[in-house]
Amino acid sequence: MKVSLPLKPFQYQNLIDGKWQNAADGKTFERYSPAHEVLVGIYPKSGEADAILAIDAARKAFDEGIWPRMSGAERAAIILKAASLIRKNAEELAFIETLESGKPISQAKDEMEWAACNWDYAATLARHTKGESFNSLGEDMLAIVVKEPIGVVSMITPWNFPLLIISQKLPLALAVGCTAVVKPSEFTSGTTLKLGGILKEAGLPDGVVNILSGYGDPVGIAMTNHPMVDMISFTGSTSVGKRIAAAAGQKLKKVELELGGKNPQIIFPDVDLTEVVDSVVFGVYFNMGECCNSGSRILVHEDIADELIKKVIEKSKQVKVGDPLDPQVKVGAIINQQQMEKISGYFEQAATQGAKLVLGGKATEHGNYILPTIYDEVKPEMSIAKEEIFGPVLSIIRFKTLDEAIRIANDTLYGLSASVWTKDIDKAMTISRKVKAGTIWINTFMNGYAELPFGGYKESGLGREMGAAAIDEFTEMKTIQIHIGPKTGWWISDK
Ligand code: NDP
Repeated sequence: MKVSLPLKPFQYQNLIDGKWQNAADGKTFERYSPAHEVLVGIYPKSGEADAILAIDAARKAFDEGIWPRMSGAERAAIILKAASLIRKNAEELAFIETLESGKPISQAKDEMEWAACNWDYAATLARHTKGESFNSLGEDMLAIVVKEPIGVVSMITPWNFPLLIISQKLPLALAVGCTAVVKPSEFTSGTTLKLGGILKEAGLPDGVVNILSGYGDPVGIAMTNHPMVDMISFTGSTSVGKRIAAAAGQKLKKVELELGGKNPQIIFPDVDLTEVVDSVVFGVYFNMGECCNSGSRILVHEDIADELIKKVIEKSKQVKVGDPLDPQVKVGAIINQQQMEKISGYFEQAATQGAKLVLGGKATEHGNYILPTIYDEVKPEMSIAKEEIFGPVLSIIRFKTLDEAIRIANDTLYGLSASVWTKDIDKAMTISRKVKAGTIWINTFMNGYAELPFGGYKESGLGREMGAAAIDEFTEMKTIQIHIGPKTGWWISDK
């Protein structure tokens, strides 16, 4: 059943030191649904002063508050409560996400469950944050290496998976005892601000998580540069990621970056084409292609290329595009006009560079929708083969040999993920070893689990989110050496 639009926009406030607040200067900004062009949210337009208040609160909560000093079990209980409250509020959260982002409602609902799973998993890490011991240093010495929470973490997130992406960072940082300042994208701030209410209800102490809506400039910049911030965790474009890393480098702050991708699916002839076609179509149209993991490049062996392309076109024609509140729709609205223009710009480049358009290649007549688009005869040097488009646009490149496939797969600045489709274990493992990407899928595409680390090689990022690896991201290591028994040494033995 199709859900109706809200009668009036949602109104939001910042959460700073446990209190709901407007921006210090009272300014607000608005969000119009990209699918329906109606006002769906009004948010505080925070400034530098608000960012400083939020950072001060997180600093105080870390330096003097109870959160980093609690047992892991106590933190786990609150994190688990947050997971159950995300599930309890999933319908409303998914609705807000669809209104703000234009993504299909059925997918937004799935995302709430994936987000909750990350909170569930983080609770287990709260009880398993542990270091090492060294009993091998001789009779009179024992050493232990402890992992301490790094401190105040600034988290800056994008618009494509708002609640899911913050749930890949925040619960894990909380699990080890960090405190945080969070800024969602100006286009999709609703669910992250709602998360503040969920955390309050779960019993999180005041000041541990502070959430601000506002623009990258000035809020994100203040959250990056402020000396009281110990680490920045960012998901978004590679260009902003580089700016954040450069600014953080001035004070040698730790950064964790999850950036773009141009992810290949490499397809050999010995596969079940029905399974592959389904994954190709899902991989490129999921979230309108506004996805760092988007399977936007197909590298297909020339022997099956024509047959595969025919089937992918047939399937793509069945993908329902339109109002994201319709549960049957699989491709909703594009996030904003700027992104519409960016995608259309790639259509022009593809035409001038000689790619063969076999489906779509344009926006719908009305609304912010791009039709499923497929280019054949794409050459590895074309922009649509190398650059992140962030739209429902598939580039198909043909190859003859395994080595050629590997070379093309690695021929971008990105290295986030890749998949290989073959029943030949030698080919699958050679690709897995030689393709430079943080995740490789074999005979599947875009599965994700809270247990597994996620992140990129090359310009796709720095560090890893999720999995037990997150403990290392959000902690510092401290080595403690303990002398046992009478101390003999350089000065004492002289006496
Ligand atoms: P950005 O990287 O610009 O935005 C991501 C977040 O960073 C937003 O919260 C943004 O704030 C904030 N930000 C912007 N500038 C700064 C800064 N100097 N310091 C600190 N924070 C800052 O992504 P866009 O939204 O502009 O999207 C552009 C392109 O980025 C897309 O076309 C796509 O290719 C890629 N992208 C990749 C994503 C991924 O998951 N890897 C996700 C989203 C986009 P503000 O609210 O003002 O924008």
